[in-house]
Amino acid sequence: MDYDAIILGAGGAGLLAAATAGKAGARVLVIDHADKPGKKILISGGGRCNFTNTWTEPECYLSENPHFAKSALSRYTQWDFLALVERHGIAWHEKTLGQLFCDGSARQIVAMLLDECRCGGVEIRLSTDIGEIGHADGRFYVGNATAPQLVIATGGPSIPKMGATGKAYEIAHHFGLDVVTPRPALVPFTLGPEEMLFREISGVSCPVVARVGDVAFKEDALFTHKGLSGPAILQVSSYWTPGETVSLTLVADAADMLRAAKRRMPRAHLKAALAELLPSRLAEALATRIGIAKQLGNVADAELNNVAKTLTQLTFRPTGTEGFAKAEVTAGGINTAELSSKTMEARRVPGLYAIGEAVDVTGWLGGYNFQWAWSSGVAAGLAISRLLPRCGISSTQ
Ligand SMILES: Cc1cc2nc3c(=O)[nH]c(=O)nc-3n(C[C@H](O)[C@H](O)[C@H](O)COP(=O)(O)OP(=O)(O)OC[C@H]3O[C@@H](n4cnc5c(N)ncnc54)[C@H](O)[C@@H]3O)c2cc1C
Repeated sequence: MDYDAIILGAGGAGLLAAATAGKAGARVLVIDHADKPGKKILISGGGRCNFTNTWTEPECYLSENPHFAKSALSRYTQWDFLALVERHGIAWHEKTLGQLFCDGSARQIVAMLLDECRCGGVEIRLSTDIGEIGHADGRFYVGNATAPQLVIATGGPSIPKMGATGKAYEIAHHFGLDVVTPRPALVPFTLGPEEMLFREISGVSCPVVARVGDVAFKEDALFTHKGLSGPAILQVSSYWTPGETVSLTLVADAADMLRAAKRRMPRAHLKAALAELLPSRLAEALATRIGIAKQLGNVADAELNNVAKTLTQLTFRPTGTEGFAKAEVTAGGINTAELSSKTMEARRVPGLYAIGEAVDVTGWLGGYNFQWAWSSGVAAGLAISRLLPRCGISSTQ
C-alpha cells in the first residue's frame, strides 16, 4: 500500500492537512484509533465548535519559541478558514471576543473536513492502531502502508476519555525529537481545605480580572466544589506554575464604592454593601473571610481600604489543577526547535512532520487552538504536495 503521505490522527489538524495534500494530488492515508473522525471537534464549543477567532495573532499562543507560530498563522489565517466554512454553506455567528461558532452543530465542521478529504481522494482508516513505525531508505512504514512522508497529528493527552494519548511524544522520541514537558492547560484549579468558604459557593460566577504573574485576563470566573474555573481562570491556568498565586480583581474601584456605601447605609453590615457589588453567595463568603462584624458607619476608612484591597486582589494559592482529565488542551509537546515553522517538517528527519496540539504551541481559550490546528495542518499539507512533481495549490485552497 503505497502513499505519498501517511497522516497519524484524524482530528482537525490531520484532516485539513490530508485534504490540502490530497486536493493537490497527493495519495494520502489517514490512520486513527478512534471509531469516528474529529471527536474533539464534535464536543467542542458546547457542540457548536468555536472553530476560530477573528482576533487571532501569534501573541495569543504559548510556546518556548513565541515566534514559531507566526509563519503558519499568517499563511493560513482565520479568514481563510472562515472562507472555507462559508464555501460549505455553514452558518456561523460571533459569540463574544472574536469567537466564531457554528449556528447549527460542530458536526458540520467535521462533515466539511470529510467532504474536503473526499475531494482530495483521501483514504481514512478508523479503529486502527498505529503500531510500530518503521523507517528505512527515506520511507516510513505503518502497518501495511508505506510513504515517504509521515505526519504526526495525534494531538496531546488532554481528555483521555475522548481517545487522547501521548502517542505523538512516543513517536517523537522514537525519531530522536525533543519534547517540551507536556502539562495540562486551559484547566480548572483545585483549592485546599482552607478555602472551603469559596468551594461551598460552587456554581457562583462573576466577571473578574484574573492574574498569574504578569498575565491578566478579563472574563468570568466560576467557583466550583473543587476550586476555580470559568474562562478567566482557564486562560491564566495555561501560564501557571505550581506554587504560584492567582489573584482576582472582583471590583476595580472598590474603595470608592465602599466609602459611598458607608455614607449611604451606615447601619448596614459589610455583607449588604458587598452584595450590591457581587453575587450574594460570594458577598457572604467574602464577608465571612474578612470578618468585620460592625455596622458600616463604625468601620474606619483605613479598615474599609483593607476590605477594598481584598476585592481588588483576592488571592488564592491553588493546590494544583484538575489535570489532563479536565484540561481543554495540552501545553508543551514536540519542541518547535525540531521543526521548520514554514512546513512543520522535522529538521533532522526529512519527510516527518508534526502539527496541531502535538506541537509545543498552545492557544488561548476561544477558537485559537483550532486555528492553530488548521494553520499548521495546511502548512504541512502544502509542503507535502509541493514535493509532488505534478501539482500546485493556492494558499487558500
Ligand atoms: C472539551 C473540549 C472543548 C474544546 N473546545 C474548543 C473550541 O471550541 N475551540 C478551540 O479552538 N479549541 C477547542 N478545544 C481544543 C481543540 O479541540 C484541540 O486543540 C484540537 O482538537 C487539536 O487538534 P489536533 O488535530 O491537533 O488533535 P486532536 O483533535 O486531539 O486529534 C488527534 C487525533 O489523533 C487520534 N489519536 C490519538 N492518539 C492516537 C493513537 N495512539 N493512535 C491512533 N490515533 C490516535 C485521536 O483519536 C484524534 O482523532 C477543545 C478541547 C476540548 C477537550
